Amino acid sequence: MDHPLKIFNPTIPWEEAEKKWEEGAAQARSAHPLKTLFTLPQMPGIAEKHIKWKGLIYLLRHDTNHIVSRYLLKHPFKYLARYMISLLRKKSYVRDGDFFLYNLRTVDEWKKCLLAPDALFVIGFSYCHKPFECPSGRFSDECIHEATHPVCRQCFIGKVMHALPAKESILPLFIPTVHYIGEKMCALVDRYGDKRVVFLITACEMTLEMFADWGHMLGLRGIGVRLDGRICNTMKAFDLSERGIKPGLTVVLDETQQRILDIVKWLHSTNAPA
Ligand code: SF4
Repeated sequence: MDHPLKIFNPTIPWEEAEKKWEEGAAQARSAHPLKTLFTLPQMPGIAEKHIKWKGLIYLLRHDTNHIVSRYLLKHPFKYLARYMISLLRKKSYVRDGDFFLYNLRTVDEWKKCLLAPDALFVIGFSYCHKPFECPSGRFSDECIHEATHPVCRQCFIGKVMHALPAKESILPLFIPTVHYIGEKMCALVDRYGDKRVVFLITACEMTLEMFADWGHMLGLRGIGVRLDGRICNTMKAFDLSERGIKPGLTVVLDETQQRILDIVKWLHSTNAPA
């Protein structure tokens, strides 16, 4: 059930709620302007070769919470077979603009998955597009998304968090590291099975490519949303970022923000996921 005090709630039309949110954001911007990117750097999405192998080694080498032994070795043959099949595929995803579709061909197919009565929607935000001034801390899995806070009010994550229906079948995650999201996904699949979990997660293009086979291995279906701005496109930058050293800001491009908000609006109209 949506909270009646939320700006986005069923008692007022979406357009009205969005206008109210944006008016508050404009006021916050003039009173407390945030550090932003003035221009988008023209960076290649991936500036290194053999990233899948490098990603595999990275994951195994830094598996301090023993994700492999706690989850993957429970079904070693199933997961190994899926991983090998995924490796042999020419392309690990279907690209639709900034949306990278895994185990799916279209966004409509993804929406159908969310309409299933037992779907669980995981919406994840990489920490690197949190504002520098984020009150919950940038390199953190927290997000207070306080509508009256001048930073949250200017933050895209804050807007989505307020627009999302408040439901137990929607699980927002704020992602500091690849091991964090890997462990969360393994735990969800372990608990609910791979048919229920449907994701939409923001990440750099290199990460979307590097760990695609791991998503296929778990049987996950979802959308990876490509970030722009000061992305990580080398293993060195990725490694530093995984330790919280990320002086640059990434962004969800305006057009892609709109696509995500359209999906959130669609969730309201369909009451999905149940
Ligand atoms: S909405 Fe969340 S991520 Fe954005 S500034 Fe607020 S606490 Fe940080």
